[in-house]
Amino acid sequence: MLEEPLVFARSNPGAVACRLPQCDVPESPVDSLIPPEQQRQSRLALPELYEWDVVRHYTRLSHQSYGVDVGIYPLGSCTMKYNPRINEDMARLPGLAEIHPAQPAQQLQGALRLMLELERALCAIGGMDAVTLQPPAGAQGEFTALACFRAFHRDRGQTQRTRIIVPDSSHGTNPASAARCGFTITQIASTAEGRTDLDALDRALGDDVAGFMLTNPNTLGLFESGVARICEMVHTAGGLVYCDGANMNALLGVARPGDMGFDAMHFNLHKTFSTPHGGGGPGAGPIGVKRHLEPYLPVPRIVEKPDGTLGLDEDRPKSIGRVHSFFGNFGVLVRGYAYILSHGPEGLAEVTRRAVLNANYMRHRLEGAYEIPHPGPCMHEFVLSADRQKAQGCKALDIAKRLIDLGLHPPSVYFPLIVSEAMMIEPTETETKRALDHLIEAFLQVARECEDTPDVVLHAPTQAIRSRLDEVRAAREMVLREEL
Ligand SMILES: *Cc1c(COP(=O)(O)O)cnc(C)c1O
Repeated sequence: MLEEPLVFARSNPGAVACRLPQCDVPESPVDSLIPPEQQRQSRLALPELYEWDVVRHYTRLSHQSYGVDVGIYPLGSCTMKYNPRINEDMARLPGLAEIHPAQPAQQLQGALRLMLELERALCAIGGMDAVTLQPPAGAQGEFTALACFRAFHRDRGQTQRTRIIVPDSSHGTNPASAARCGFTITQIASTAEGRTDLDALDRALGDDVAGFMLTNPNTLGLFESGVARICEMVHTAGGLVYCDGANMNALLGVARPGDMGFDAMHFNLHKTFSTPHGGGGPGAGPIGVKRHLEPYLPVPRIVEKPDGTLGLDEDRPKSIGRVHSFFGNFGVLVRGYAYILSHGPEGLAEVTRRAVLNANYMRHRLEGAYEIPHPGPCMHEFVLSADRQKAQGCKALDIAKRLIDLGLHPPSVYFPLIVSEAMMIEPTETETKRALDHLIEAFLQVARECEDTPDVVLHAPTQAIRSRLDEVRAAREMVLREEL
């Protein structure tokens, strides 16, 4: 693969990609508008390029990236499934794409109706009583719900409830969101079977506990079979229970966090409901809450007025306020809504059945070649350990790098933290048996190479434009500017 220089290095002085029409109003010299000390002293060195230079540059770059439109993308926890094109068509409808959120509510009736129906669909899917669509990511949803927990406890005079409990298998955002919200965090260990340890939970509970955060199925891909008992224990201690709903493609249409006893949850529309993600956004992390938390949800709330039209209610004295401008990431909401409507209730249940089947099929075929630290069956994903391969000299990272040479995207590695040399695989429901077999054969091949020709694994990737980056150094000594 050839190196693609920065677009600046391709600059061709004098080249222009577009021509503006003749100016038909009097020009105002910039000097008269911007005070001299704020004016640039040197020319702005923007690249000068023809249209085809620009198109070719970005097309070449796109050929160097791997995405769900290129092939299977088994990045555990992230739900990198195929994004149906109908979602894109819907989000591009001019009536949805060209509205402005500052237009008066009378002009936004269609968009408000879509959002209200999406809220209701998510309530039905999660078993919740009310939903806000505002948070722009799962982590932001966690933060929003925890702020509601705090407001709920304060309202009852329980200001001493300043502690959040999380299991040691939790996604890093859980304790991080709780800390950002001002809580202290207690981490509890998991059992040898990879589930919440009820004794440890019991010991951690107390009248200073605001809540417990649980992912179900958890980050090991295992269903928390004690969930009803867990919710009961936390409630008895006066706390609230939060469901990290990032793994909803293991439950859709089959089971509901609300029925399990959770008080609040988030949905990752960009994972479960297939809106494109990766590289940091945009996403949507709506949260669902039970009735007792509804007064604290962010404003504005979409409300149906007596005449049937929709309006925005800002007058909610107990609300925690806003967590995002306007309505969150509206384009993502449209895609999620399109996904839900195009599947329908039975289609969503089928999503879950396939996600679980695909993961169990892969898990079963790989269990001879890699260690599986927790007994199955699994839900929509599973975690392998590369401990056996590490003893032969190849770590999880090496295996991931080798998969790149085989034209595949690697799984998540080194998460969850409680599995040594973890490789977390989420095949997702959109993959065929043929695609799964291809990925399985690659994993089996790499396991054989770790035994027979470890050097091949240790030096991979040789086919990628960059091989092994020093990620820590890149983060610590950032070079954000290339001197040409
Ligand atoms: C992705 C994920 C999150 C965070 O969601 P973002 O939308 O990336 O902020 C939280 N918990 C789990 C288990 C996840 O997989």
